[in-house]
Amino acid sequence: MPNKKTKKEIRPRRTRLGREKLKVAIVGLTSCDGCSVSILDMGLEFIASIDHFELGDFFIVMDEKDKKVEYDVAIVEGAPLTKKNIESLKAIRQRAKFLVGIGACAHFGVIPNIKNYIDKGKAVKYQYPKTYKKVENPDIKPISEFVKVDFIIPGCPPEGKDIISVLNTIRQGILPKLLENPVCYECQMNGNECLLQKGEPCLGPVIRGGCRAVCLNSKFYCKGCRGILPGYNTKQLENKLLKLISREQLNHILQVFGIQKDWYRVQKGNK
Ligand code: SF4
Ligand code: SF4
Ligand code: SF4
Repeated sequence: MPNKKTKKEIRPRRTRLGREKLKVAIVGLTSCDGCSVSILDMGLEFIASIDHFELGDFFIVMDEKDKKVEYDVAIVEGAPLTKKNIESLKAIRQRAKFLVGIGACAHFGVIPNIKNYIDKGKAVKYQYPKTYKKVENPDIKPISEFVKVDFIIPGCPPEGKDIISVLNTIRQGILPKLLENPVCYECQMNGNECLLQKGEPCLGPVIRGGCRAVCLNSKFYCKGCRGILPGYNTKQLENKLLKLISREQLNHILQVFGIQKDWYRVQKGNK
């Protein structure tokens, strides 16, 4: 018979949002739209699931005219790069009971975040040689630096069905949970040959799984788009990787999805 503590641990956390239909907004900051497209990519499955949701703003499909309408859940894609992005993010936070960030841009900043690791003045001049003086050029930060984020669905992009499944969990009044296994778990379940054991780099041992190890299934190594698993230290894997590649090459890999800062922070034991 389970003791009281076990009982408490397995009880799902409640969101107080359990209801028939959720009013949902899908908001885009600076992004490639890929996360939202992954929802649309579900096609008929998306249409079927939409019965449970009332869609307001969906930035790539339709505008909600009433800018004061309140939402049960706001889904936010992209990185807050401009003042306008930050204003939209703060405004939707005020109008939503539950805010879910989707994708590595919202989570870490991804491609724009690469600028954080180089001279951002030079970067903007290179990209916009004629208009760089007019371009906003802040450091790139995750959305959680600006507003309270209730849940992050990681990945670049996350799968559409995972986004809908999180919404369904919230609809049932339960706080969603992410898989706590590293990418290696699904990679090995899929019967892939281990790249690290073959002497090739891979970040899979410290990266949060749940992506079905899609990159490894296609023989590409994991670059960590879902972020480092909480509680995992990267030092042991780093020692292994530095026997295969240089520190510079490792840093380049870590910069692709913006996890370099976290990689070294966990080695110092900071939360
Ligand atoms: S997380 Fe990836 S797919 Fe989603 S908006 Fe950013 S770059 Fe695009
Ligand atoms: S290939 Fe990468 S993800 Fe797969 S088992 Fe090896 S280290 Fe882990
Ligand atoms: S294998 Fe790694 S890089 Fe590829 S989707 Fe999964 S977490 Fe992202």
